[in-house]
Amino acid sequence: MSYQAAVNRYEVMPYRRCGRSGLKLPAISLGLWHNFGDNKPYDNSRAMLLRAFDLGITHFDLANNYGPRPGAAEETFGKVLKQDLRAYRDEMIVSTKAGWEMWPGPYGEWGSRKYLMASLDQSLQRMGLDYVDIFYSHRPDPETPMEETMGALDAMVRQGKALYVGISSYSPEQTVEAAKILKELGTPCLIHQPKYSMFEREIERGLTDVLAANGIGSIAFCPLAQGLLTSRYLDGIPQDSRAAALDNHFLSEQGVALQLTHIQKLNELAKRRGQTLAQMALAWALLTVTSVIVGASRVSQLEENVGAVANLSFSAAELLEIEAILAS
Ligand code: NDP
Repeated sequence: MSYQAAVNRYEVMPYRRCGRSGLKLPAISLGLWHNFGDNKPYDNSRAMLLRAFDLGITHFDLANNYGPRPGAAEETFGKVLKQDLRAYRDEMIVSTKAGWEMWPGPYGEWGSRKYLMASLDQSLQRMGLDYVDIFYSHRPDPETPMEETMGALDAMVRQGKALYVGISSYSPEQTVEAAKILKELGTPCLIHQPKYSMFEREIERGLTDVLAANGIGSIAFCPLAQGLLTSRYLDGIPQDSRAAALDNHFLSEQGVALQLTHIQKLNELAKRRGQTLAQMALAWALLTVTSVIVGASRVSQLEENVGAVANLSFSAAELLEIEAILAS
């Protein structure tokens, strides 16, 4: 059956201005790092994308290497776009990135103009798009001059292949340098994509000040600490969870055990606020960043996560309690 977007899709989600730009992003965005590759059923991936759009999630975050099979998530996204979402392209913000290893040889990773330009062309082809809304340098390259990497981002905008550009995982110092070069080129840095959650607070030590001073927006990746900051692991490690997956090297069973006491205490506080732990963790991150990119393995998780927007404020006492729990 052909897909028709929900008529009430813009009624609940807040849209927040991204830095000093004309672009607004949904408070909650959806990332396609996990659960959209060859190893997952297409019907579930499609259901999540369509439900996300119906819930007001207009922003979809991809990268060249998301899969597995690197490139597979962009292909899945392209298929759903063609089948269901084509009529809504102008209501969507699609981002992709390059920086991590994508193909063999010296031109398949890092930050050279050679790699970035070729990678964007490949991403556009996989997704069946003429342009992406945001293209990111996925990681800083210690060997390529920053002028070259930023020059490639600027060229993509001038060629009409990207509307805006951003950077991911750049340090505060690297961000200052990148922003300066991009400004001189006439293509401002729209956004920074750092890792940020209650369990990963590095950006509070300098980066957020740099972003504010330069009018750059921010979007957090792994805001639920890959599922730790949800009810997923409260009663053990489910068979079908990311921590149990043998092909995942980013979250381990030991990682869960290390944080379990924090998770349990935070869960009690969330309950008192009338939220789930996932909802509280997202609301908390949104005190600092423009948007959060959630991952999800099923529609019900997405629905729960979007419920965070019903309560985005914290009392001073609640914030202190969170700090005390995290310090315990
Ligand atoms: P999250 O921290 O949101 O973790 C997502 C995982 O948490 C899900 O796969 C699911 O795990 C679990 N989960 C989510 N919601 C719930 C819920 N309500 N209840 C129970 N469990 C839940 O983010 P990701 O680590 O997936 O990263 C999000 C996005 O960030 C990526 O898709 C990507 O777009 C971006 N990213 C960018 C990076 C960069 O370098 N720029 C690096 C990493 C990510 P389960 O599978 O166990 O159900």
